Amino acid sequence: MLFIELASAFGEIEKRSGRLEMTDLLSAIYKKAKVNEIKKLTYLVQGIIAPSYEGIDLGMGEKFAIEAVAHATGYSRKDIEKDYRKAGDLGLVAESLLKKKKQQALHARELSVSDVFDAMMRIAKSSGTGSQQLKIRVLAELINNSSPEEGKFIVRFVTGQLRLGIGDPTILDALSVSKAGDKSLRAELERAYNLCDDLGLVAETFVSSPNKIKKFEVEVFKPVRPALAERLATPEEIIKKIGECAIEFKFDGFRMQVHKKGEKVEIYSRKLEKITNTYPDVVEATRKLKHREMIFEGEALAFNEKKNRFFSFQETMHRRRKYGVEQAKKDYPLYVYAFDLIYLDGKDYTQESYSERRKQMEKIFPSGLLKISEKMAAKDAEEIEEIFQESVKKGLEGIMAKDLKAPYVAGARKFAWIKLKKSYGKSVDTVDAVVVGYYLGKGARAEFEFGGILAAVYNPDRQKFETVAKIGSGYSEEEMKSFHEMLSEIKRKEAPSIVDSNLKPDFWVELKYVVEVAFDDITLSPTHTCGAKDGKGYALRFPRMMRLRSDRDAREITTTQEVIEMYELMKGK
Ligand code: ATP
Repeated sequence: MLFIELASAFGEIEKRSGRLEMTDLLSAIYKKAKVNEIKKLTYLVQGIIAPSYEGIDLGMGEKFAIEAVAHATGYSRKDIEKDYRKAGDLGLVAESLLKKKKQQALHARELSVSDVFDAMMRIAKSSGTGSQQLKIRVLAELINNSSPEEGKFIVRFVTGQLRLGIGDPTILDALSVSKAGDKSLRAELERAYNLCDDLGLVAETFVSSPNKIKKFEVEVFKPVRPALAERLATPEEIIKKIGECAIEFKFDGFRMQVHKKGEKVEIYSRKLEKITNTYPDVVEATRKLKHREMIFEGEALAFNEKKNRFFSFQETMHRRRKYGVEQAKKDYPLYVYAFDLIYLDGKDYTQESYSERRKQMEKIFPSGLLKISEKMAAKDAEEIEEIFQESVKKGLEGIMAKDLKAPYVAGARKFAWIKLKKSYGKSVDTVDAVVVGYYLGKGARAEFEFGGILAAVYNPDRQKFETVAKIGSGYSEEEMKSFHEMLSEIKRKEAPSIVDSNLKPDFWVELKYVVEVAFDDITLSPTHTCGAKDGKGYALRFPRMMRLRSDRDAREITTTQEVIEMYELMKGK
């Protein structure tokens, strides 16, 4: 398939905002592509070259992309930088320069989707001395062979600015429509995606052997998209919803998914990035388990031996580092509280009930570094309340109630798990929101050049980030300094097109940082766009910065639907 066909479809998609139109345009592309192009095509649409757990990065900053555009078009870097400052979009600059190109390509040839993808892979894989020059050369050659429209999307792709607003749900819909003419195959595609987090693989399997999608199974070293918890406001509601249940403490550490096959062990974060090298102690302990093949999940917490208590979340996060691992291992010894079993010696446990999975787990986990999270039975609301109070006394976040009969619901927030958290003001939970912009400080804060942030949650139906709070309090001086440093590096003049906002902060930023926000209440207000209807959106009242969630990215924040659910819950309280 020619890349120009994909670039034209991107051009069309960019002009439309309706999900149905996007789905149709994309399904037409899927129909045209050959089987061996499906995987590459899917990654290109996602704006990636491999699923995140493979850790393959283009490693091509803006500076180098500018240099490649200069090489390819014959214009100077200075000219390009000037145009870029004006346009705010390097893709548009490349497009317009290619239209009036000074040097005519001698051997310009038509690019295929594979040509473009393979070149991206070469860029990503080149490392070591001279690699930056090689990356620039490969990209320049690609741009040199591009039409203006192709060049625009290639440049946006390498700079991480594809911004088409095509979310994974649209890709799943498009695949289903390409074969069935409607969304009837979406559920089975989604199930497979949740089990492997690799949309390229799912799309390829779906096109080449559709039967395999129906029987898709978990595989060791392919991380499973994590199950998530719903929230309810009271123990009574929990009992009403799932009846007699199991209660576990909700530990405030970080989630790990551990995979083992023989001697080989890999660990994935909640974002499903490979973090194995950071935790040699967990690798070692897992190796010692007698089962040959397994996937389990647990919450990792660092233990303060001097004070005989767990470190806080922030302190525990000191263990998430690339360098100085050995020292960190000594300073912050970890415990992992295993809370779920996904796979064991050839058997996929995702369809087994919680009780069954738990029964197996109890046979596996020794005490020591790997422990099993304690399970308590609760028959009624009072018993839940008692355990909840105990968790608060212990300084924990709250509890998780688990439906005894529920399977492991990969990638979904369902009532299989229900969290009950200690309250923050009147609220039932905190919100994880992405920073979309920031304000300069006034008065005493002027010296920090930071006065607060504008934060948004995600609306998957509209594929937009909708603002929910302007957070001006809860920062220490240190935090103001570091927010200013972090955010000024990624500031931009225009709002990213996927952000829907009525407010205009002093600076917009790339959607990179996720923050946890506490609040007192949720109200309807014309200020914010979250779930807006008739000009009023949901807004957090008295929002306060709790912490930066460096273990999250913009893909994993609170959704608009969740904010609406929290509003309903709090209204009912
Ligand atoms: P939060 O911000 O409240 O941690 P979350 O978005 O991380 O929420 P939720 O689905 O709300 O995810 O809650 C599940 C999280 O709670 C898991 O990701 C896990 O890290 C943590 N957790 C702590 N203890 C347990 C437990 N016993 N069982 C399951 N998850 C647990």
